[in-house]
Amino acid sequence: MTTITDIAPSQAASAAQPLHFHAKPAPQPATDAGTDAWRVEDVQALFDLPFSDLLHRAQTVHREHFDPAEVELATLLSVKTGGCPEDCGYCPQSVHFDTGLTAGKLMGVDAVREAAQRAKQAGATRFCMGAAWRAPKDRDVDAVAELVRTVKAEGLEACATLGMLSDGHAEILRDAGLDYYNHNLDSAPDFYGEIITTRDYQDRLDTLARVRGAGVKVCCGGIVGMGESRLQRAALVAQLANLAPDYPESVPINHLVKVQGTPLADQPDLDPLEFVRTIAVARITMPRARVRLSAGRQQMSEAVQALCFLAGANSIFYGEKLLTTGNPDVAADMGLLAKLGLRPRHVSAD
Ligand code: SF4
Repeated sequence: MTTITDIAPSQAASAAQPLHFHAKPAPQPATDAGTDAWRVEDVQALFDLPFSDLLHRAQTVHREHFDPAEVELATLLSVKTGGCPEDCGYCPQSVHFDTGLTAGKLMGVDAVREAAQRAKQAGATRFCMGAAWRAPKDRDVDAVAELVRTVKAEGLEACATLGMLSDGHAEILRDAGLDYYNHNLDSAPDFYGEIITTRDYQDRLDTLARVRGAGVKVCCGGIVGMGESRLQRAALVAQLANLAPDYPESVPINHLVKVQGTPLADQPDLDPLEFVRTIAVARITMPRARVRLSAGRQQMSEAVQALCFLAGANSIFYGEKLLTTGNPDVAADMGLLAKLGLRPRHVSAD
């Protein structure tokens, strides 16, 4: 009897019978009345896949829609820090928690222009401005619109996160040239109340609808590691993937940064591989979105970040600081991208 070891490798290749794997069919969105919607259980089934199957599937989807070597660099600037009346349990900017943060007024045009120029020089293509408001007043929106014009004049994509918008606000920002509005869903609907009590899920959805209605691109994601279950992480991703009329163009996946003084300061660590799984599931369910590896990168090893890129993350926050918490420095990020053979995305903002 000839065994596979009796013949040369080239013969072995042709003599060997094809291998048959009995993999379960990969979960797909359910088709409901002509629309593709992800059911929470199908998203959870993705989370439950063997790790290498999940990453293979995510990387395959990623390559169908993006250059896998390209990473978007987005810089985040807090243009109005602290003093926020909301009580988001992860946030050092809330007035409800004593985190030692000094509140500040809205930054002026010159300071924002300088920050945008520095970000561009360092290689960023998107500039995101965050203001710690529950909901901006009309005059706040006008002031931020001026900041948007300033950022756009520097040839950067502009994004803003200002809290809940009222009717007409998104249109003012759009007319100033705003490309994206960020408003995160944070977590699953049934976990939201554990983290935030001063607004509800529907408030978030209403603002997202206003942003979409004005034709501004949506940046919307969430935070994991706040004590939610895997099922709740799946429910968050399903919410994002099913947002109507389309899922967000940009999906930041944040890892909780535990800030002393906030209610989540002593939250047990999330397994880093569960974070990677969350990125992969976001990539599979929202194939055309920029999935951003966002807060929490400073606490992540390079190996975990590399797995996140493999799982389909193709955007990072770039620069030494996020809104108030730390971020890997620019040289470390450039070193990591070079080590992985990744390169920054170039864009010409109009
Ligand atoms: S996350 Fe935003 S809305 Fe919530 S407390 Fe912080 S600044 Fe306010």
